[in-house]
Amino acid sequence: MNIILLGPPGAGKGTQAHKLVAEKGMVQLSTGDMLRAARSSGTSIGNQVAEIMDSGSLVTDEIVIGLIEEQLDAGVGSNGIIFDGFPRTLAQADALGALLKAKGKRLDAVIEMRIANDEELVQRVSGRFTCGNCGAVYHDQTKPTKVEGTCDQCGGTEFKRRPDDNAETMRTRLLAYYKDTSPLIGYYYAEGKLQTIDGLGEIDDVAARVSGALAAADA
Ligand code: ADP
Ligand code: ADP
Ligand code: ZN
Repeated sequence: MNIILLGPPGAGKGTQAHKLVAEKGMVQLSTGDMLRAARSSGTSIGNQVAEIMDSGSLVTDEIVIGLIEEQLDAGVGSNGIIFDGFPRTLAQADALGALLKAKGKRLDAVIEMRIANDEELVQRVSGRFTCGNCGAVYHDQTKPTKVEGTCDQCGGTEFKRRPDDNAETMRTRLLAYYKDTSPLIGYYYAEGKLQTIDGLGEIDDVAARVSGALAAADA
């Protein structure tokens, strides 16, 4: 299945995508991760977008559509693709539809992870850190590593925090979500692809809701 995880920053998209990759062998395509990789390797795209990302605004449609197109051209995801953090605008949604069609692929479901509580989102991103080796996602309070300083997944000992994961930048990111991305909820509802789940609660409980939504879409 090819699915989109849709939700505001901190909703738990990356966390749930990692679980689906581990359990179902799907491939996660996160434009945020691709842009951060472009930045740290100093490519021209990376240099162009660094300031925009740090401010919390969206980078141009052209850049992110190009990144996704590259992956689809490379033929990734025969066991299914999870689009995480893409599309984020109506123009990106149209472009994704056209790209998938050109590859003979379909979009099976869009899972909206709803968290109607901005304070919860701010708390989530403020405590977020990831493994520098495998990308596993943690939280200071809600999901610490089992052994302090060691990644549960790969045993790595280096962790990263994002410069944009702070309360001030979150205001801009949330505004971008409500203004530019939330119209996609109506767009995919109209296409009959939308499944909305509650994003609050234990990570495993949310995972069960994601699985339920996938099963419903597959039926
Ligand atoms: P997104 O990709 O949507 O921005 P993440 O998956 O990175 O969200 O999660 C944001 C932060 O919240 C991370 O630190 C993660 O460990 C934590 N988190 C994810 N899901 C939950 C949950 N259900 N309850 C509490 N914290 C969570
Ligand atoms: P989160 O997991 O918190 O939702 P991401 O890692 O997906 O955040 O994105 C981080 C930043 O990268 C965004 O604030 C934005 O600047 C840029 N970005 C990522 N994906 C897109 C996209 N599809 N369109 C525009 N900008 C994007
Ligand atoms: Zn790791």
